[in-house]
Amino acid sequence: MMTPLLVGACAVAAIGAANYAPQAEQIVSTRRLRDRVKRRRMVCLTFDDGPGPTLTPRVLEVLREEGVRATFYLLGMRLPGAPEMPARLTAAGHEVAAHSMRHRHAWKCTPWAAYEDVVAGYDALREHLGPAARFRPPYGKLNAGSWLALRRRRAPVDWWTIDSGDTWPTPPSPESIAERVVRDGGGVVLLHDFDRQGGGREERAAFVLETTRLVIRRSKDAGLTLGAMSDLHRSTNTA
Ligand SMILES: [Zn+2]
Repeated sequence: MMTPLLVGACAVAAIGAANYAPQAEQIVSTRRLRDRVKRRRMVCLTFDDGPGPTLTPRVLEVLREEGVRATFYLLGMRLPGAPEMPARLTAAGHEVAAHSMRHRHAWKCTPWAAYEDVVAGYDALREHLGPAARFRPPYGKLNAGSWLALRRRRAPVDWWTIDSGDTWPTPPSPESIAERVVRDGGGVVLLHDFDRQGGGREERAAFVLETTRLVIRRSKDAGLTLGAMSDLHRSTNTA
């Protein structure tokens, strides 16, 4: 008969294996993504965790001025705070994609909870998402539950190649991020457009806006093409 300790150890090992398998996909997919952006000489600006009633319109303004299309991975739970924003993003020509309902960390919840979070996020956005709407995993983490929910929808899962650092305790300089994009010959840049609470809110917003603008300008100067994630994947069909 198995002791409780052994049962516990087996359960931990099983959950670990179930989490590792989808995550291995991230390592392979990120490597492919690096190759793809380089080959296509493309830069994709991607904004997670919005919509932010204040910051998202400011990001939109920069993108409009620069004539650039981007991808926004929205959280279902933020929609009540900015219900008109998904339609505004679409009307401005941007790509609306999903980022779950409540931003559950797939390694810190059950597979079922992660599954539900993915499904509820798509449901909250269903009026605004096309049938092939893309998904970015919260915290860049998947487990067996979220992986299954995404497979059932045949949803493309998107990672990134360059973290702007806009959620780090001390963000890097916007210039260093723009330089890295150019040095890498393209990239998928992770940024966040939710409205932060408390101190440092305006500094963070300014960082996001400045990084967005600098990445665009430096990329244009270097002859790189800017577009949404679906543009990047569409273009690979011909190469
Ligand atoms: Zn996120």
